[in-house]
Amino acid sequence: MTYQSLITAMKNFRSTQDRSSFDQVCLEIEHHKHNKMTRKDMVMLVDAYACIGKYALASSLCEMIPNKSKKEFKKYQTIKNKPDLHFTFVELSQMDTSQLPTFTYCPNPLESGILSFGAPEVCDCCGEVVTIYSEAGLYCMEEVHLLCPHCIHSGKAAKKFNGTFQQMHEFVSKPHANYELSCCTPGYISWQGEYWPAHCDDHCAFIGFVGANELDDLGIWDTVEHTTAYDINVLQEYMRDGGDLQGYLFQCLHCKTYVLYADAS
Ligand SMILES: [Zn+2]
Ligand SMILES: [Zn+2]
Repeated sequence: MTYQSLITAMKNFRSTQDRSSFDQVCLEIEHHKHNKMTRKDMVMLVDAYACIGKYALASSLCEMIPNKSKKEFKKYQTIKNKPDLHFTFVELSQMDTSQLPTFTYCPNPLESGILSFGAPEVCDCCGEVVTIYSEAGLYCMEEVHLLCPHCIHSGKAAKKFNGTFQQMHEFVSKPHANYELSCCTPGYISWQGEYWPAHCDDHCAFIGFVGANELDDLGIWDTVEHTTAYDINVLQEYMRDGGDLQGYLFQCLHCKTYVLYADAS
């Protein structure tokens, strides 16, 4: 029996996390499950169950695998300790975002890409399993990789780890606004660390990751203010979303002026 279709289904599910690829993995599991399973069959099915978060089934199958290597033993020990995951399968476009807190300086956290929607992960602060999170980390002594929107918004994560989310930002005259930006607003992943501009004596809102093409589409080259060391011609020629010269677009919450920051690898 070959496993190619099972491997493909698992790979698809890992990248899409959607309902149809989940169902495909389940179908493949049924197809590969039979009474006289070889050791190889069992190893493959343990991986498949773990892939779709069915850890209880994976771990009972682990018990049946004979002559486990040290490495396998260790891996299966981890599987045993995990609770089953329950996927929600909501496409980003139809996702219920009513439970998301409102970030003053990042009004559209999913669309702007500052928060991601993906495979269930554990929040480093509250320990809850979440599918919407920030991976930009926190500037603090401990290693913090993944935080849920609520632990960021409430200031709980910044307080718990005694850290701040922005590497650099301008200071505005309202002290609470400075606290809100540095302790309750997710950072954005950048090449050289965040810089968060201000305008009209308030912090700007993060709009998204951009390249020259995105600014062309918005038609804002004539009005955008930029706080970078780069000449506008260099930005127009070389700035690419996902490239070595990356742009970060902000907008003033008061006068609506766009403000661009960019950095390079
Ligand atoms: Zn949390
Ligand atoms: Zn302004």
